[in-house]
Amino acid sequence: MDVIVAGDRADLVKAKDTLGAGTLALVPTMGALHEGHRSLIRLAREHAKHIAVSVFVNPLQFGPSEDFSRYPRTFEADLEVCAEEGVGVVFAPSADEMYLPDRQVGVSSGAMGTIVEGASRPGHFDGVLTVVLKLLNLVQPDVAVFGQKDAQQLAMIRRMVADLDVPVSIVGAPTVREPDGLALSSRNRYLSTRERTTALSLSQALAAGAAETVPSRVLAAAKAVLKGATRLDPPLLLDYVELVDPLTFQPVDDAHQGEALLVVAAKVGNTRLIDNTPILPM
Ligand code: AMP
Repeated sequence: MDVIVAGDRADLVKAKDTLGAGTLALVPTMGALHEGHRSLIRLAREHAKHIAVSVFVNPLQFGPSEDFSRYPRTFEADLEVCAEEGVGVVFAPSADEMYLPDRQVGVSSGAMGTIVEGASRPGHFDGVLTVVLKLLNLVQPDVAVFGQKDAQQLAMIRRMVADLDVPVSIVGAPTVREPDGLALSSRNRYLSTRERTTALSLSQALAAGAAETVPSRVLAAAKAVLKGATRLDPPLLLDYVELVDPLTFQPVDDAHQGEALLVVAAKVGNTRLIDNTPILPM
């Protein structure tokens, strides 16, 4: 069956009717689909009979000086990807369809939304959680799939589902990388050849950190690589590198037991990149 495109709520209801009975998985995206998104769709297939992909560049999660207007929009190509992957419905609402002009109420991401990535992007996680809750309410899937690439986003969505009793199962998906280690991202297309070389320092720093197990040494190893990258041309402009608890995103010290997450964010040229890797205890 061809993929059904739903642009508004009424289309979505009809599309779900056409799909018929059986479990439904939602893969929320901002479009500009790549192999990472494909891997989420394939994982969704293991959890449900039907798959819905949402394509919506959510204005609420972008800060005033961020790249909302220049975020890549490749809708026709996205539809082809979805058709190839056997997606049943693509929900692609306009901003006017999603948000009332006099919108008042949104989800608060709490203190966890103000640390690490949230400290660099004030309001970002409130915007993410608000749109994700709305998408879950509109699509009403049994399962929703999110990438570990955006680790704090995934952790915050799990918190929202627990804190607000949202009736959905959240599935996390591993990060898909280029053969040289660069994590796939819709924003990678902005990188020039030289910028891309600098951008590789992110995954290289994570690999250096992951070769250690004691938290202070993990961080020191990652920081050494990132420091070297600030001297490249073009330089890496480090935003943060932290070793955190994967559930709370609080920093961990050498007394920490169990898994930790090494998270990094940096700019190369005008492009902001994030990445992370789990650090397993010895
Ligand atoms: P985005 O379109 O960037 O908002 O991403 C949509 C979903 O794809 C999110 O759940 C992301 O975490 C996930 N995603 C983005 N990049 C990757 C990747 N390289 N590997 C796996 N999942 C990814």
